[in-house]
Amino acid sequence: MPADSALAGARPPNPTDPDDTVSRLESALRSPQVTGEPADGRTLIHALGAAGVVKDCLSATDLRQPLRLPILRTVLAGLTGRVPNGAQLALLLHLSTVTPLTLRLAGAERAGPLVRGTATAALAATDSGAPGSDLSGLTTTVRRHEDALVVDGRKTWITGARWADNFLVLARHRPGRHFSDFCLVMVPADAQGVSIEPVETPLMAGAGLGSLTLDGVRLPAHAMLGRPGRGMTAFTEQMGAERLAGGMWTVSLCRRLLAAAAADAARRSLAGRTLWAESAVRQRLAALFARVRLLEALVDDITARATATGRFPLSDTAVVKAAVGTLAGDVADTCLHLDGADGLTARSELLRTAQDVRAFGVAGGSTETMLELIADGVPAAAGQAESRP
Ligand SMILES: Cc1cc2nc3c(=O)[nH]c(=O)nc-3n(C[C@H](O)[C@H](O)[C@H](O)COP(=O)(O)OP(=O)(O)OC[C@H]3O[C@@H](n4cnc5c(N)ncnc54)[C@H](O)[C@@H]3O)c2cc1C
Repeated sequence: MPADSALAGARPPNPTDPDDTVSRLESALRSPQVTGEPADGRTLIHALGAAGVVKDCLSATDLRQPLRLPILRTVLAGLTGRVPNGAQLALLLHLSTVTPLTLRLAGAERAGPLVRGTATAALAATDSGAPGSDLSGLTTTVRRHEDALVVDGRKTWITGARWADNFLVLARHRPGRHFSDFCLVMVPADAQGVSIEPVETPLMAGAGLGSLTLDGVRLPAHAMLGRPGRGMTAFTEQMGAERLAGGMWTVSLCRRLLAAAAADAARRSLAGRTLWAESAVRQRLAALFARVRLLEALVDDITARATATGRFPLSDTAVVKAAVGTLAGDVADTCLHLDGADGLTARSELLRTAQDVRAFGVAGGSTETMLELIADGVPAAAGQAESRP
């Protein structure tokens, strides 16, 4: 089995008509904004919005589930390895979460600038007042004062915080842990009382990670998206799309890394034999390829079901999210190891990726949180486990 055919790069999925999107994506990637500097998420969102790629990923008619998932997958695969991982993370959130959520809750007109890429919004859910794994404990509040809304709290580890024009803030409008105690408000970054600090991290260049303090921020009533009490439900539904998009990205990233490692092993000669001729190496890469293919099959299956029903199956999207952290970590670490010392230089993209994918098991919900969701759905145990506090 020749290395390059066995572990070929991103296989095109089966979208209705991706060709136009691919050519628009290519022209956006050639634009001076993107090629001039290492692109950050904001640059990428602007360029892809202007080229019509964000619009391609969305249905104009189905606001219940506005994502055109096969097109989203084509776009994520087309970007993988060509832009910094942090910039791709920001774009993934823009496409799979922020823009569709705004479309669903506030309609096409208000989501228009996000679709055209003339504005960005960051999703601010993780709260300084509670662990990210315990979202219902969040302490950011929104209260009504006369005709206005007033928001107070602090959000942390927010992708795009450093450059977003707006924040889609998950806050509570009353005490309690019931899903109806929460709402989503759109907060302009330049509103009085908003301040932003960068999160210093070597991971995910281009993601613009930062923390956000909201100190008595007064907003007009229409800043609330949808009804009060709808926030957590709408957010949780949209997280299914984000987890699926994370699975799409992981599949294309792992395929690309494995294909490069196999091609390199086929070139690298040790004492007259190529590295690819060593069974230990072939089987190690093949075992990882098998895991990627299994994830891909589940991603394909959810994509088809969500396209048909407009719903993201909670347990299966949790399986995808539970898999991506360990799989991307194992693939990147193995490929890095097989690259020998060459992979360990300061300029090594592989080393950077092996570092970046450490975030896959944390960002958007830890692996353990996903395993808890999966465990909740295990039939034999359902109703028997002691209820958790
Ligand atoms: C690169 C990056 C980008 C991010 N972008 C955003 C963003 O755009 N918007 C946003 O709102 N948030 C964002 N986050 C925050 C992210 O969603 C949270 O970090 C995540 O939800 C985990 O929360 P935490 O960091 O507070 O960890 P904690 O909830 O404190 O968990 C810490 C660790 O405890 C363990 N753990 C948790 N629960 C369990 C359990 N039930 N059983 C066993 N072990 C458990 C896990 O190992 C977990 O990693 C981002 C984070 C990263 C790293």
